[in-house]
Amino acid sequence: MTTSPLFYQAGPAMPEVSHGRGVFLWDTQGKQYLDGCAGAISCNLGHGREDIRDAMLAQLDRVAFTYRTQFENAPAVALARALVEMTEGELEKVFFVSSGSEAVESALKLARQYFVARGESRRRHFVSLRPSYHGSTLGALGVTGYQPLEAPFADITFGSLKVPGPDFYRQRDGDRDAHVRRVLNETRERIEAAGGDTVIAIVVEPVGGASTGARLVDRAYLEGLRALCDEFGCLLIFDEVLCGVGRTGSWFAYQQWGVTPDLLTTAKGLGAGYYPVGALLCREAIVETVMASGGFQHGHTYAGNPLACATGLAAVEAVRREDLLDNVKARGHQLQQGLEALRSRYPWVGDVRGLGLLWGVELVMDPVEKTPFPAEANLFARTTALAKEEGLLIYPRRTLDGLAGDHFLVSPPFTISESETELLLERLTRALDRLDREVV
Ligand code: PLP
Repeated sequence: MTTSPLFYQAGPAMPEVSHGRGVFLWDTQGKQYLDGCAGAISCNLGHGREDIRDAMLAQLDRVAFTYRTQFENAPAVALARALVEMTEGELEKVFFVSSGSEAVESALKLARQYFVARGESRRRHFVSLRPSYHGSTLGALGVTGYQPLEAPFADITFGSLKVPGPDFYRQRDGDRDAHVRRVLNETRERIEAAGGDTVIAIVVEPVGGASTGARLVDRAYLEGLRALCDEFGCLLIFDEVLCGVGRTGSWFAYQQWGVTPDLLTTAKGLGAGYYPVGALLCREAIVETVMASGGFQHGHTYAGNPLACATGLAAVEAVRREDLLDNVKARGHQLQQGLEALRSRYPWVGDVRGLGLLWGVELVMDPVEKTPFPAEANLFARTTALAKEEGLLIYPRRTLDGLAGDHFLVSPPFTISESETELLLERLTRALDRLDREVV
């Protein structure tokens, strides 16, 4: 029996955190950890930043909370403007929330209400990928394609039409284009089978995170999705809760493929780990239609509060001021080279994929067949534990759908230096050397 009153998913006993500075954290025993996954891919600026603390304190000195229906507040307006600018004006409206799940929930509800307002209530299906992760509230879970999370709630969630996304590592269709064509055809068939005019939106993570270990889409796939949405009159939602606000080297990942969604969600790194803040961005026409029908029937108490938005604004300004998108690209390149070198060192490092400072490493028993390790080996948990012993935090995942095996994410803060990136790779290599001896 644990003596702690805290209630988490079962896991190994954890050290108690003492403090953090830059890319490092220390526990109360004095052990140092390099935060190689920015907490939960959220601490984009590293720990202990005085500029963020100062901005938060300044806002606290003015006012911490006002309710969005009573006052306009300057930090919310400024952060909304900054977000719109980050999309180069392609998405013109912003709705604030406090988490990624809330952002996705809001996107689903706004999209549905848009069609109700247009007299198209028959549209009641979402299309999303398996595997995927869009959050843990019931609506966001409904579009999530991750069997262990879905199973206990399958009878009480609305569920979505689940289709495969591109998997350039395991595809057996020949070349990439043929693979993308097949995946898009399957998506079209599912939409047609449901009745094209019953679909509200297609929901996709441009770079997968927790569910797929940084699996990427490509331009042809996103163009194909955009064309399907235009043909069937439904909306395109990109979930950039994890990969947004600079993580991939551009403000939003979709910008690297030049395909713009109708709605976009973001959260995690927006408050850089200093305060919860997330956002739904969307096209003005959607908002106009919904507002003309009596307003968006949705909202959360803490949404867009001044403290949250002042924190988000300070984080965005720091990324701009310090040219951190350039650092994400430069360090991302360094990280990519280091991680790819692991493939020649260990035959069981199967795939290395990612963009900017968001990298996934997949471990396989057989590099030719790409067979995952048996679930009982718990390789993802063992890898993470060894890395932690070596003073490195990485983000572990095993997809239990039989679609992908053990993988981990490497996604350090945007502020990581060249020598700290080397240190990250050294500690990771030490951990994987031990894994090679102990487990594999
Ligand atoms: N969407 C994506 C793509 C995510 O990665 C996550 C969290 O990992 C969520 C939504 C849910 O965000 P939150 O945990 O802040 O509710």
